[in-house]
Amino acid sequence: MDHSKFLTRCLQLANYGRGTTSPNPMVGAVVVHNGLIIGEGYHRKAGEPHAEVMAIRSVENRDLLKQSTLYCSLEPCAHYGKTPPCCELISSQSIPHVVIGTGDPHSKVDGKGVAHLRSHGIKVEFAPSPHKFQRLNEVFWTNMTKNRPQFTLKWAENASGYIDRTRTAEEKAMRISGPLAALRTHQLRGSVDGILISSKTAHFDLPSLTTRKWFGQSPTPIILLSQDFPLKREWLSSLEVQPIIIGNKIPHGYSGINCNPRNLEQWVPKLFDFGLNHILVEGGTRILQSFIDGGLADSIHRYISSDRLEDGVSAPNAPILTTTAELGNDRYERS
Ligand SMILES: [Zn+2]
Repeated sequence: MDHSKFLTRCLQLANYGRGTTSPNPMVGAVVVHNGLIIGEGYHRKAGEPHAEVMAIRSVENRDLLKQSTLYCSLEPCAHYGKTPPCCELISSQSIPHVVIGTGDPHSKVDGKGVAHLRSHGIKVEFAPSPHKFQRLNEVFWTNMTKNRPQFTLKWAENASGYIDRTRTAEEKAMRISGPLAALRTHQLRGSVDGILISSKTAHFDLPSLTTRKWFGQSPTPIILLSQDFPLKREWLSSLEVQPIIIGNKIPHGYSGINCNPRNLEQWVPKLFDFGLNHILVEGGTRILQSFIDGGLADSIHRYISSDRLEDGVSAPNAPILTTTAELGNDRYERS
């Protein structure tokens, strides 16, 4: 039996939940009887029924469940959360066969769903490769397996490898990439929980850090505080979302993590306490490089303009990025 088309359908269904399931993963499920899909479902929102429940509920003739196969993109859950465990529903409906895209790394599941099903005599099979099912929920996967937020790094550099000219405090930052790259950046901002910059960038550029050119909420600004570059009160109070400040001497009235911001190990795991699962790191170079060197660059987005400069601020040394596209006059590369 070729399971691939039904597993692909699970992925398509799971995608209907994109943007609304957090902190839960996106999951899709189908019920197949004699090679025909008789039920479909996906997880829409945390607190609402899981994909398997939706798929089983959608089957008109429940008697057919006893001779059907349930396909799901992620291992059925085995714990009582906001909803009862799916594996109990599957066994109570006497579904004899379950095919799973990938196991669930969540510590409360992690094989327990499969063990429950097998202990009830249900045949359990897995997709030949779990990769695309894990990639579907990249952020969830990083959160669960690495116990930290997912970090996406982004910067723009010119053909000479500079992210900015060498400039004085009075001079504005140089615009490197074009309007399409800006649009893509704002799209990216709309999909993350936090946006991380240095207090040097904040001090000189006073960025608004919003998603004003795209849909979605503006992310929480996270500022790495250096004593050399104090934060301006008017700028802090102008931010659309209350920032989180990381460093010593956090300004009065603001929350944050009191630590040495250069020591990533001290504060990276604590970002979870603020409900931040996915963070966009926008610079500057030293911060970006410390994430790359520390093995924390889960994903990199880089824009390269065709302009050249004699001198400037060097871009980070990045690994080779294989996915490329033309975005207006810029080259867009991502990992
Ligand atoms: Zn479930």
